[in-house]
Amino acid sequence: MESKIYGTTLYLGVKKLKTKYGDFNALVYQDVITTKYIIALINENTFNNLYDNEAILYTRIHSSCITSEMFNSQDCDCVEQLNGAIKIIGELGGILFYLIQEGRGCGYIGKARGCQMVQYDEYYGGNMNTFDAYKNLGMKKDYRKYHNIKEILVMLKLENKSFNLLTNNPDKINGLKNLDINIINTTKIEFVPNLFNRSYLISKQNSGHMLDKIKKELNVNFLGLDPTNKENNLQNFLPFKPIKVFEPYKLDNYKRFILFAKYYIPIRPINNRFVLSKEQIEFIERKKVCFEMFNTFIYVNKLKDIENLNIINPYWFRVNLYYDITTNLDYVLLYYENPFIDTSSITPLVRIQSESIFDRFPLDEKRYKNRYNHSIQKIIENGKGYLLLFYRDGRGSGLGYYLLDNKDISGVKEDMRDYDAACQILKSNLNDDKFDILYTNYSKFNLKLKLKSYKLNFRNWISIKDDNNLLISERIFNLENDYNYYINSFSKKLKLYSNN
Ligand SMILES: [Zn+2]
Repeated sequence: MESKIYGTTLYLGVKKLKTKYGDFNALVYQDVITTKYIIALINENTFNNLYDNEAILYTRIHSSCITSEMFNSQDCDCVEQLNGAIKIIGELGGILFYLIQEGRGCGYIGKARGCQMVQYDEYYGGNMNTFDAYKNLGMKKDYRKYHNIKEILVMLKLENKSFNLLTNNPDKINGLKNLDINIINTTKIEFVPNLFNRSYLISKQNSGHMLDKIKKELNVNFLGLDPTNKENNLQNFLPFKPIKVFEPYKLDNYKRFILFAKYYIPIRPINNRFVLSKEQIEFIERKKVCFEMFNTFIYVNKLKDIENLNIINPYWFRVNLYYDITTNLDYVLLYYENPFIDTSSITPLVRIQSESIFDRFPLDEKRYKNRYNHSIQKIIENGKGYLLLFYRDGRGSGLGYYLLDNKDISGVKEDMRDYDAACQILKSNLNDDKFDILYTNYSKFNLKLKLKSYKLNFRNWISIKDDNNLLISERIFNLENDYNYYINSFSKKLKLYSNN
């Protein structure tokens, strides 16, 4: 299909994506007013069925969620719904629409401020929900718009089709019916909640979402926690004091940046490595379960052990959200420090991370996401570090660049990324502190020059390889044979730990 426009929706091009649920075509559109992307995912095998008069098409209108889809945070259910819908559409045919409408359309700035407010309230025993927080911040419940969907359907000549909408949200059904999109049925996509998204899902249910599984009792007998405490108060799990919503302010030395929000996100542990407290380690010791240790704090364990012990410790990263008034971009800085040890003498690791929006889908190979996971793992092992989310796609030129053929890109700068912005944000956090930096070959040269010009005190460059092999080989422990070996090394490590 050649470039086309209908209404305010511009067709940019198509990319083939190999996913866990089959091969998809990603048709990329952009709203020419908001400049936001809309991606229509269509399963290749079922493409022709779209025009079969009899067929009812499954569809999902999915709003982006950077925290769960990019950062692996567990405080909502967006990524589960996204993957669940792609699976259904991969099997039964249809279209998934992916819209960049963060936080019910208020952008990540609005969403992050809302999350910060709820987190603070919840920690101190309040019962404020996401909708209350939006109201307190002067925001509407929902800013999302769906006219681009209608315009895409017209361009695809599918505007008269009947759809089965994959959703739990009745507001969305009405939003589409108001656009004369023929929704004849809906199918729920629901998952059992976890500890970190349950209160969010309950507030969704109270606002009309059709959710049944949240009533299911969660097992609250978590590793090292008092099983009689059924309150599930955030104080039991969040090892840091939350930060109260503050008036956004400009950075002292770099006034182009406004700091909007700071709050903690529970990132899903990678490859079953958990960061445990001293009390939890002692608890495990009493249980006589075998673990593999990488250093004093991190354990790899078998899936069975995770289930038996009910380990929930996420990686708690603090989000710092900046907005650049000169480029209209927001920058997310994630900060980690191990809450169970004294981190004052640890040299932090720093990663400047780019993203591809396509990596948010369940692809067979996720290049940027792998680098992200690898970086998070390194930071966790180190005990302290920063990850700055730098840019999305095309080395700063967006999906438009990504969709051009090699022969068409002459005259487009190969790297449009704003290394000054990255250095300024880092400088405002690190000052003169020394740090080590995680890198891939491509960005090293440009980055090094800039880091020097800001007198940032970097030491070692640690390479991140582009392979999937994130693991130091995982040895399987045999409970009987290895127990003595295990307990010896464990006691040694525990001693080290206590001395800290
Ligand atoms: Zn989400």
